[in-house]
Amino acid sequence: MLQTALHYSHQLLRDVVLPGDTVVDGTVGNGHDTLFLADLVGSQGHVYGFDIQGQAIDTSRQKLTEAGLASRTTLFHQGHETVAQVLNSEVIVKAAIFNLGYLPKSDKTIITRKETTLVALTSLLPKLAVGGRIIVVIYYGHEGGDTEKDGVMAFVKDIPQREYNVLSYQFINQQNNPPILIAIERKKTSQP
Ligand code: SAH
Repeated sequence: MLQTALHYSHQLLRDVVLPGDTVVDGTVGNGHDTLFLADLVGSQGHVYGFDIQGQAIDTSRQKLTEAGLASRTTLFHQGHETVAQVLNSEVIVKAAIFNLGYLPKSDKTIITRKETTLVALTSLLPKLAVGGRIIVVIYYGHEGGDTEKDGVMAFVKDIPQREYNVLSYQFINQQNNPPILIAIERKKTSQP
């Protein structure tokens, strides 16, 4: 069966993330992806997570502690647009994931926004390891969602193909704005 965007995002991460890697969860939310990544990076790796909602950070931190994975994670109660300030300039990121939109069962007006999402993506592109991937799952069915989707799609379409591969994955016959998964991969060798 073709995989949902959520499952496929995990597959794309699992394919490249190895024990010892440094990775980023740009939208911690319920902590599901943070836990998944913390498992992949092992005890020598590290996950840096961001969310502007304190509640999301607190509950995720608790889940990580219960799973015994807290020591390999650092969660910031601040926007992902600060990623370049937080990560040392020499840090190489193997993978990053962003789930855009609002947090389900929470305040629908607290959403990711084009301006800050693009700052985060722009900051991460040069930090990405060769063969590394940035996954962006775009949910856009909510108020303000279309503006962000259009901005992100325009941005990723313009990423130079010489250095990066960019994939778009979506069930195009589904109702109700099925999410779009974008995968950005840094190529192994720069090609003309
Ligand atoms: N729509 C997805 C979940 C998105 S959760 C789904 O249905 O599965 C998006 C998360 O991003 C929320 O927890 C929200 O608080 C967070 N967020 C919003 N703006 C942010 C920013 N600038 N930096 C980091 N996180 C942000």
